[in-house]
Amino acid sequence: MGSGIELKCPKCSFHKEYYLGSGMLLPETYAEVVSKIKDCEYGSEWRDYFKTHAGAAVDVDKEVYHCPLCNAIVEDFNLDLYNTINGAPIIDNYFDPGIDHRGYKFVKHYAHLCPICDGPMEKTNKDSQKSLPCPRCGTTLICSPSFIWD
Ligand SMILES: [Zn+2]
Ligand SMILES: [Zn+2]
Repeated sequence: MGSGIELKCPKCSFHKEYYLGSGMLLPETYAEVVSKIKDCEYGSEWRDYFKTHAGAAVDVDKEVYHCPLCNAIVEDFNLDLYNTINGAPIIDNYFDPGIDHRGYKFVKHYAHLCPICDGPMEKTNKDSQKSLPCPRCGTTLICSPSFIWD
């Protein structure tokens, strides 16, 4: 089971559910994201880091991002970059920074860009999710938790 949030506009018809975290599909999700990195889908810097570091690891938790320029709200993988401290390949073929940071060091935040206006997006948290403006009309959205079965 994964959890998420539901954002609803009290004024217009905007209504959307967003996944958060990684749920039960972590190993599959992890493999999928790493193969996208190797295909350069998240930029050459991430691809090259994975090419040159055997211990490269990436945070695949789902987060909700907000664009302060155009108010777009999207869910995406966190994609922050980590490496094992001793440079050895990661154990179990996946990495969950929410559970275990031991043996890993943080390398770099992934810069999420807005799919609409290309501006830099901000990661939301439990607090900021309560007062996001509607992407369509700007009214403050109503945020409620939602639970999604994998
Ligand atoms: Zn609205
Ligand atoms: Zn934008």
